[in-house]
Amino acid sequence: MSKAQTQKIFKAGDTIMRQGELGDCAYIIEIGRVEILIEKKNGEVQSVGTRGPGAMIGEMALVDQAPRTASVKALEDCSLLAITQDDFSMRLNHADPIIEMTTKVILTRYRDTLARAHIGGVDTNIPFAEQAELEHAKGSKAHETVKIANNFKDALHNGEITLHYQPILDLKTNKIKGFEALMRWEHPQDGFISPGVFIPIIEDSGLIVEASQWALQESLLALKRIEGRTGYDNDLFMSVNFSSKDFASDDFVDSVYATISKSDVNAKNVHLEITERLLMGQPDQAKDTLEMCRKAGIGISLDDFGTGYSSLSYLHYFPIDTIKIDRSFVSGMTEDENILKLVKSIIDLSKSMNKETIAEGIETEQQAALLAGLGCDMVQGYFFAKPVSERDVITYIDKLS
Ligand code: C2E
Ligand code: CA
Ligand code: CA
Repeated sequence: MSKAQTQKIFKAGDTIMRQGELGDCAYIIEIGRVEILIEKKNGEVQSVGTRGPGAMIGEMALVDQAPRTASVKALEDCSLLAITQDDFSMRLNHADPIIEMTTKVILTRYRDTLARAHIGGVDTNIPFAEQAELEHAKGSKAHETVKIANNFKDALHNGEITLHYQPILDLKTNKIKGFEALMRWEHPQDGFISPGVFIPIIEDSGLIVEASQWALQESLLALKRIEGRTGYDNDLFMSVNFSSKDFASDDFVDSVYATISKSDVNAKNVHLEITERLLMGQPDQAKDTLEMCRKAGIGISLDDFGTGYSSLSYLHYFPIDTIKIDRSFVSGMTEDENILKLVKSIIDLSKSMNKETIAEGIETEQQAALLAGLGCDMVQGYFFAKPVSERDVITYIDKLS
């Protein structure tokens, strides 16, 4: 039982809630029976039913501050579990946006029906109905979520989704070693939609699986073209992001392998970027999948290291080749001595386990110098290069030589 849900005891005959009073919680009946009573405008009191164990009462108070539309009396000694408005809001805020919106809309409509039927007989002066529904809908996350999920599939096929490539450099030589492929969405009406917004939505809806395979195929073809046109280096790697939904599909390894084979890129130059969150979900299955990738020669990078449920034991349980130190550590390390020590330990530990380190989000020369001093292998950040289109990567490389 969470702190917010407290047990309340009422004796037979007690009034649990009174019509017209402001409510700030709902109750689930654990033990006992209650009667629901409504006082009409003419003063007549009418029983509208009884409720027993498992039922919820006073639920309208979870959505708004309006007065109780009925009174509730204990018919027997009762034990009730109180759910506060704060606790409910917190849960709703963490819920899927569509569930959040649906819940609010249903409760608002129910409140409206009660008000229209005048059965409550209480003048609450609260504008329910369409007004409130409109407020829920306007700028709601649900609206945006559904729109993005509906449009993404088309966007992937009609060229609105593209990839940008951010160079990853060797910190000792400053030479480009590879790239991270990052999705971009330029919507014809809404403009640029950040991957921070659309990726989580297409992960939830499962569309990510098709998108990841597309990104892998597209980025490997781009890598071959970049190598061919620049003549800079023919042994560059491409790092592609994958999510837990990708790993859950049965033919993940087969389709990754098939795409790599078709691309003519050496499997060792394909790095799968995964997060600790993915490993946490189904560790044993993830381990099997990663081991199959490893056998095929594919590299595994642990992304955003340090931000998740970081457990050092992962590092030897899972076959991981590269650790990407999250940007928050890189930006924090110049201000906070402890963060600097943390970054140093991550690098030392990685070295001792024969893993490479890539620091993410380097924005200043000072950060680059500190990381070089700590022996970090590779870097990726705006200070060196931003993620850019394939054409701009080629221009960028041409200018280097
Ligand atoms: P991420 O995988 O951690 O990617 C690195 C993010 O840091 C990118 O943001 C990149 O543009 C940004 N970045 C790189 N250097 C700097 C820097 O110096 N300063 C700052 N402030 N930011 C820097 P982006 O492209 O907006 O992507 C955000 C996230 O969206 C990615 O974080 C990744 O989680 C997700 N994402 C992007 N593309 C894909 C994709 O193709 N597949 C999947 N599954 N996720 C993707
Ligand atoms: Ca990444
Ligand atoms: Ca990252």
